[in-house]
Amino acid sequence: MTAYGTTPTGTRGTITVETEAEGITSGANAAGFTWMLKARCRGANPTEFFPSDGTGVISAQSVCDGCTVRSECLEYALAHQIEHGVWGGASERERRRILRRRRGAATTGAAVTQ
Ligand code: SF4
Repeated sequence: MTAYGTTPTGTRGTITVETEAEGITSGANAAGFTWMLKARCRGANPTEFFPSDGTGVISAQSVCDGCTVRSECLEYALAHQIEHGVWGGASERERRRILRRRRGAATTGAAVTQ
C-alpha cells in the first residue's frame, strides 16, 4: 500500500493496515485506517503525493479527484496535522487555510462546510 502514514520525520511512508479484508489481522488500530484500503492512490509512487512544485500538486490532485475516500483522507490529515504532501485533494497550503477557517469558525460560532 502506498498511502498514508507519517513517520516521526513527517514524511509519508507505508503503513500496514491491519484488517481482515486484507487477510492480515484485525487490530485495535484498524478501524481508523480502513478507508485507506479504498485509496485511489494505493500503489502509486509516494513521491507523487509529496510534490515540490505546483505542477506536482496539480498532478496529485487529479488522482484525488476521483477518489471515493477523499473526505476521510482530508480529515485524517487535518486531525493529525500532517504538514506535508497532498491529502484529500488538498495541498499543504490549502489544509492550513482550512484549519484557519475552522479555528476562526470555532471562535465565532460560524458554520464551516470544509
Ligand atoms: S484523496 Fe488523494 S491522497 Fe487521499 S486517498 Fe484519495 S487519492 Fe490518495
